[in-house]
Amino acid sequence: MPSKRLARVNPCSMCMPMGCVLVFRGVESCMTLFHGSQGCSTYMRLYLAHHFREPVDIASSALSEKGAVYGGAANLKQGLRNVILGYRPKAIGIATTCLAETIGDDVPQIISEFQEEEPLARDVTFIPVSTPSYAASHEVGYRVALKSLVQTMVRKSKPSGRINILVGSIVSPEDVRYLKKLLDCWGFDYILLPDISETFDAPLNEHLPRIPAGGTPLDDIRDLASSKATVTIGGLVQEPGAGYFLEKEFEIPHRPLPLPIGLDLCDRLAASLEELTGDPMPEYYERERGRLLDTMVDAHKVVAEARTAVFGDTEMVLGIARLMTELGMRPQIIATGAINRAFAEAALQMVPSSRIITGADFSEIAEEIMARDIELMVGPFTGRQTARKTKIPLLRVGLPNHDRFGASHQLLLGYEGSMRLVECMANSLIESKERRYA
Ligand code: SF4
Repeated sequence: MPSKRLARVNPCSMCMPMGCVLVFRGVESCMTLFHGSQGCSTYMRLYLAHHFREPVDIASSALSEKGAVYGGAANLKQGLRNVILGYRPKAIGIATTCLAETIGDDVPQIISEFQEEEPLARDVTFIPVSTPSYAASHEVGYRVALKSLVQTMVRKSKPSGRINILVGSIVSPEDVRYLKKLLDCWGFDYILLPDISETFDAPLNEHLPRIPAGGTPLDDIRDLASSKATVTIGGLVQEPGAGYFLEKEFEIPHRPLPLPIGLDLCDRLAASLEELTGDPMPEYYERERGRLLDTMVDAHKVVAEARTAVFGDTEMVLGIARLMTELGMRPQIIATGAINRAFAEAALQMVPSSRIITGADFSEIAEEIMARDIELMVGPFTGRQTARKTKIPLLRVGLPNHDRFGASHQLLLGYEGSMRLVECMANSLIESKERRYA
């Protein structure tokens, strides 16, 4: 249910353009530029660098007072020129910040002028995205960037028979690697977008490339309209997005699926892939499924009946809450910073007795936690002050995670990711009990 607060002081969500960076970084040779004030890109660069432990470059059109009064066209064009000369990208994602949205710059128009005026722009694809941060959260920024990327680039050519796998929610590089391994093992042709498996988690390299290697090839993105189907993983409550666009414009059947966390939701992904490909789940993953079940049975005596609070990004929260119910845990608080009615309905259907908060503020989550005798919190590190105040253990999952290592290598998806999560939740509860009794 929507938060009753008149203002959010400590929101359980982040800035809208930040979501765009996660999409553009998953595209081959693509740079992100923020049209707006410089502080926005500095803040988001640092925020993402702390989470992924990787350098994150985000250019800025660096609007000043003059640009704010007379319009930012000159700054944006100069910024684009600098990015092309400095990085030689094949594509530039241009997201607006609050300032550019407030003054009302027409970014697509400025880009088409730039393309006419500037020979350097000839071989570069520009992807504009409108991201007024006062209107929505980073999750919406991610969704609109993905949609805009697809809308800008796709073109119909002869059918390829491939399956589009859109990563519809923010996940870790390890999650993307897991998905790719699963799809490769299944043995069909696919296009996965965006692919942050290498770009946000590159091996140590003496010669740091200006733009990290990897990402979904641009030609594959252009070919999305020639595939036979689209599956959006993590697109249940984060729609309508790129998959709907492909279905509407190019009649490519679309299946929006939840993030595969927990037995039931992993089975749903497996069933969809079996149906689309006509091939059964590879034996390796059958065995992995069996191991998850075994782990759930083992951990059941520790986790069952535990009263929990889960918060963070919509699809991730729903997946974790589903796994908790499968384990006999009792999610008492299911919260997200996003304002999303579909999330609230899905959460209510799953756990009718829980307190569901959308547009959540951490002070509100803290009050609910104290009132409901919670034993375990699961969510991003931003819940740490609440955890400290209430002395309830916080299991850090998802974005952001600034005060622990391993965010890039955290696996939540699939039978394996679910198994790790079950073990982490059980261990957190055991440690908490041991501390209390000591
Ligand atoms: S909320 Fe707006 S002004 Fe603040 S960092 Fe985000 S985009 Fe920039």
